[in-house]
Amino acid sequence: MMAPNSLPPAVRGRRRVRLLARGAGLLACLLALPVSAGPVAVDVGHYLARPGAISARGIPEFEYNHSLAAVIAARLQAGGDTVRLIGHRGEMADLWARPREAEAGGARFFLSIHHDSVKEEALRPWVWQSQARHYAEGFTGFSLFVSRLNPQLDASVACASAIGARLREAGLPVARHHGVSASGTLRPWADEDNGVYFYDNLVVLKGASMPAVLLEAGVIVDRDEEQSLATPERRALTADAVAAGLRACGMLTASANPRATGDSKRPGTGSP
Ligand SMILES: [Zn+2]
Repeated sequence: MMAPNSLPPAVRGRRRVRLLARGAGLLACLLALPVSAGPVAVDVGHYLARPGAISARGIPEFEYNHSLAAVIAARLQAGGDTVRLIGHRGEMADLWARPREAEAGGARFFLSIHHDSVKEEALRPWVWQSQARHYAEGFTGFSLFVSRLNPQLDASVACASAIGARLREAGLPVARHHGVSASGTLRPWADEDNGVYFYDNLVVLKGASMPAVLLEAGVIVDRDEEQSLATPERRALTADAVAAGLRACGMLTASANPRATGDSKRPGTGSP
């Protein structure tokens, strides 16, 4: 390869201009390109055999995750974006398989859907419909998690913050009980205002090559919030916040007027 400095000054100058022009053209092309042509991966947290937390009324978290993921997928598709649902059949025991499936589908973003509980010692017994159950008081709201081991940390934080900001605007509180794990691991804030924590070792986040965020949509061991989380209104509010947040962080490629475009595609196909 010839070094540019071996050329006479005049030739060097012309070449520099051409290179600059070419660079500017390339940059313009890159800016015009969508983030990726692929779908948004919406991951349904947990699976039927180990369905996650149990709500104050005895409903497994997987059921809440499944219902909310379907509403989020429908919301994104209504805006003209494609979605790939992951783990929605309740069979996905291998956590690493989730980001792998997103990767195989060419996903541009990975969003894992969960519902929250609290540490064991904060749970109290009660009886509901003649069944012994557990609930907690004083823990409500949403939280978001990103991993510093994900190769696209900046984009992950930007999207988590944008989603959190929309959830706050919709009136939801930030769940602030995740600062220390049950085993004593610190989980520092990535963005305290918007409810975003660092959780480096979450497999679905660190195993993803694309920007990845885990959303705890609310606390299902709080008896009031559980009832709220089961309503179509709360699910729609969360889905709207996710869509608006992903649009704000540049992860959606469709028009800015999502309600105007109908889309009958079903979740899970990942097809354009
Ligand atoms: Zn969970």
